[in-house]
Amino acid sequence: MQKSLLGGCFSERLLEGESRLAPWRVSSYNGGMNTFATRTATTCILLAMALSPSLATAFDGQRSYGYLKQLCSFGNRMSGSPGMLQQQQLLEKHFSDLGGQVHFQKFQIRKHPLTGRPVPMANLVVQWHPKSTERIMLCAHYDTRPRPDRELDPRRAKRGVFLGANDGASGVAVLMELAHHVRDLPERYGLDFVFFDAEEFIFDERQDQYFLGSEWFARQYRDHPPAHRYKAGVLLDMVGDAKLSIYQERHSATWSDTRPLVKEIWGTAKRLGVKEFIPRIGYAGAIRDDHLPLHNIAKIPVIDVIDFEYPDRSNRFWHTMADAPGRCSADSLGKVGLVIQEWLKTKP
Ligand SMILES: [Zn+2]
Repeated sequence: MQKSLLGGCFSERLLEGESRLAPWRVSSYNGGMNTFATRTATTCILLAMALSPSLATAFDGQRSYGYLKQLCSFGNRMSGSPGMLQQQQLLEKHFSDLGGQVHFQKFQIRKHPLTGRPVPMANLVVQWHPKSTERIMLCAHYDTRPRPDRELDPRRAKRGVFLGANDGASGVAVLMELAHHVRDLPERYGLDFVFFDAEEFIFDERQDQYFLGSEWFARQYRDHPPAHRYKAGVLLDMVGDAKLSIYQERHSATWSDTRPLVKEIWGTAKRLGVKEFIPRIGYAGAIRDDHLPLHNIAKIPVIDVIDFEYPDRSNRFWHTMADAPGRCSADSLGKVGLVIQEWLKTKP
């Protein structure tokens, strides 16, 4: 019903060229339209605004959840694994089919922590409006931890399969769905989706290094500056928890160049009535994640949107076999997607 209402109201051009938050601009866009048509279009826009600010291009949480399940069906997706390869093939096709420019930023590490052999790695970059020199980055890590190493039973910790539905697939699933709506966003900025490899290619906490992919990306950006600059970035990590509660992450909320972004995102959530974005700093300490190299090496203002209470303060599903699709929900992915989509629409 919502679809047919909008189908009758919006012309293609209005959907693509006009912000629904500025209906007064309709008449200037449609100099040739008669008064009745202009009024009808404006009424429809106002009606749609009253119903929901994002109705015309509503982010589909259910479809996003379908993507999450599809990613998990590949099994564990640690760097260099068959599951990662399957995921890369899926994403390359998915984003190309939807009109994104896809490329892999390949690199390798010399020694696999267990086998000592080289491991091929790749960040995946999807560009929308590639010619824009001022860009926004939405990013997520797309590798999963090799093992469910926080399982209490040592056998499960060593031999169990870690699916990473929340910690690995959720951010990817949000961006896969968002790709369907990119054409409805204003073209004020170029937009890049960046998927980082090897966020946690960790077999031994004491010696293995985190953030290999984002560090590589950040160094390239610093040492071989591209023609474009990133004005802002949002990292999505663990955003699918069925019991969603997203506090502000401490680094993001306190760095002077990212604090305004935190305000924008949580402000957008408040405007939309998404109460799961809780407007205060949470979690025990500052969280180490891919936003650190991006911010500290590349100097890109990137915030971490993360729900680090999975499912609650105990965080007991984190890095265990419980991190499976059943612990995530379409509703949570839908809420996060809606906030990000709306932020992109209204970004100053
Ligand atoms: Zn993790």
